[in-house]
Amino acid sequence: MAKVAFLGLGVMGFPMAGHLAAKGHEVAVYNRTEAKARAWTEKHGGRHAATPRAAVEGAELVMACVGNDDDLAQVCRGADGALAGMGKGAVFVDHTTVSARITRELAEEARSAGVGFVDAPVSGGQAGAENGVLSIMCGGDADDYSRAEPVMGAYGRTVKRLGETGAGQIAKMMNQIAIAGLVQGLAEALRFGEKAGMDGKAVVEVISQGAAGSWQMANRHETMLDGKFDYGFAVDWMRKDLGICLETANEIGAPLPVTALIDQFYKDVQAMGGGRWDTSSLIARLRKLSDA
Ligand code: NAP
Repeated sequence: MAKVAFLGLGVMGFPMAGHLAAKGHEVAVYNRTEAKARAWTEKHGGRHAATPRAAVEGAELVMACVGNDDDLAQVCRGADGALAGMGKGAVFVDHTTVSARITRELAEEARSAGVGFVDAPVSGGQAGAENGVLSIMCGGDADDYSRAEPVMGAYGRTVKRLGETGAGQIAKMMNQIAIAGLVQGLAEALRFGEKAGMDGKAVVEVISQGAAGSWQMANRHETMLDGKFDYGFAVDWMRKDLGICLETANEIGAPLPVTALIDQFYKDVQAMGGGRWDTSSLIARLRKLSDA
C-alpha cells in the first residue's frame, strides 16, 4: 500500500480519492474549500491539510485533479505548493485536463526538484469516477508511470502510457475533438426528426443498432429529447478543453474546422445561460434557432 496525497476534491477528485482509501492506501487530502476536505475525511478517514505542501509531506505519490492551467500551477508552485513539499523520488500525477505547455513546464520544474511527473487526464465523467472505471491517458517517464499505474488502478479501468510528458494531454485533446462534432451531429439528427414529426426515441431504437450508433446516442438521446441537460460534463469545461485543442492545433498546424465551429456553438449555449448544462445541450441551441 502506498502513502498518497490527493489535491482537489471536486466532482471527480472526491470519489477518486475515495477509491484510493477504499483500496487501503494511506491518503492525505487538500481542497481549497476546506469544508469539502473535512467532509472527505469524515467519510473516508485519513487526514486533511491546509495547504498542498502540508498534504504531500511524506507521500510517494501525489494526485491532483483541479480546474485549469492556472489552478494546477497554483497547487504546484510557490512556498505552499506541492513541489515545495515533495520528497526526492516521489511522483506527481496530474489528472486535470490542462495544456501540454503547462504540463511540460511543471514536469521540468518537478524534475529539477528530483520529483517525477505523469500527466494523466481522465475520461468517463462523474459516473466513471464514482464507479472507479475511468479511462486514463498518460504521458511521462516510463519508470514514473510504472510506479503510478498500480495505484491509479483504484479508479481507472483502462490506464495506458501513450508517450513522453504531454502525451496524455494530447490524447485527451483527441478525445474531446472526437466528441465535439459527434454530439452536434446527434443533436442535428434529433432536432431534424422533431421538426419532421418523428418519435425520436423510436427512431434511435432502430438506428443505434446500425452505423450511426455511439456512446453519446445510447446514453444521451433520451435526455436530449426531454431537454434535460444535467447528466455530465459541463459546457464551461468543454469550452476550456476545446480552447486547449484549438491553441495546440494552431501550434502544430493541424486543421480543426468542425471543432472550431462547435466551440462557437458552445459559446452560444453559454450565452443562453447553459454554462453548467452538459455538452448534449447543443440541441437546445438548435431548438432556439428553429423556434425563432
Ligand atoms: P470541480 O468539481 O469544479 O472541482 C475542481 C476542484 O479543483 C475543486 O476541488 C476546486 O476546489 C479545485 N480548485 C480549482 N481551482 C483551484 C485553485 N486555484 N487552487 C486550488 N484548488 C482549486 O471540477 P471537476 O468536474 O472535478 O473537474 C476537475 C478536472 O477534471 C477539470 O480539469 C475537468 O476538465 C476534468 N474532467 C472533468 C470531468 C467531469 O465530468 N466533471 C471529466 C473528465 C475530466 P474548491 O472546492 O475550492 O472549488
